[in-house]
Amino acid sequence: MIAQGRSIGARYSRISVVEGVHLDVRGGEMLAVLGANGAGKSSLFGAIAGIVSGTGTINVDGVELGGMLAHNRASHGLAFVPERRGNVFSTLSVRENVDIGLRLLPPAEREAQRAVVMELFPILKTRQDSAAGVLSGGEQQMLAIAMALGRKPKLLLLDEPTQGLAPMVFDILEHAFNVLKGLGLALLLAEQNLPFAARVADRYMVLSHGQVVRQGDKADLARPEELADALLG
Ligand code: ATP
Repeated sequence: MIAQGRSIGARYSRISVVEGVHLDVRGGEMLAVLGANGAGKSSLFGAIAGIVSGTGTINVDGVELGGMLAHNRASHGLAFVPERRGNVFSTLSVRENVDIGLRLLPPAEREAQRAVVMELFPILKTRQDSAAGVLSGGEQQMLAIAMALGRKPKLLLLDEPTQGLAPMVFDILEHAFNVLKGLGLALLLAEQNLPFAARVADRYMVLSHGQVVRQGDKADLARPEELADALLG
C-alpha cells in the first residue's frame, strides 16, 4: 500500500468539515473521491497535503506525514495539484516552470525526470519557450501536473483536474494518468465529472457533508444512476 489514511478530518477554525475518512491507495491505482459542491473533497485533500488544518494519520510509503508541515510532506512523496487555476507561474516559460518542479530532485536525476514529464505531455515540449500565461487552460493544467511530478512523488492528489476544460483534454489526461499508474504512482482524484472518473478511476468513495457515505469499485461508476442519491448528498 503506498498511501493509507486513517480518521482524516479537516476543519476551518473550530468548524469541522470532514470527519473520519479512511482511505487506502495502492501503487498503480487511482481512487476517486466524488461528491457534490461543498461535500468536502478539497478540504480533505488540503488536510492530506497539510495546507488545511487536519487530524488523523497519513502514511505514504511507510512514512507518517500526519504531523508534518506541507513542504515536508511534499519532500516525502506527496504532490498536490489544487483545484483552482493559477498553479503555474504565468510570466515564466514552460521550461522554467518545469525547472521549478524539478528543483528538489538531486541534480543527477533531473533530466531523466524532465524527459518523463515531457513525454507525458508532448505539447509542453513544443511550447517550452512560451510563457505559461499564454497557454490554454488545458495546457496550463498539464503544466501544473508536470510541475507536481517534478520531484517524483509516490502519491499524487488531483483536485478536479478536468474542471472547465475542453473534452479533448480529457483524453490527454486519461492517457497521462494511465502512464502514471504504470509507473507505480498512487493517484487520488477529486472529481464531480462522473463520466471522467468512470474512465480513469479503479475505485471510488463518495463524500457527503464531509463523511464517506459510499464506496466501491469501478463497476459501479459505469452505473451512475445508482450513485445519484449519494452524489446529491
Ligand atoms: P467544490 O467541488 O465546490 O470545491 P468540495 O467538495 O471540494 O466542493 P470543500 O471546498 O472542501 O468542498 O468545502 C467543504 C465545506 O467547507 C463547505 O461547507 C465549505 O463552505 C467549507 N469551506 C471550504 N473552504 C473554507 C474556508 N476557507 N473557510 C471556511 N469554510 C470553508
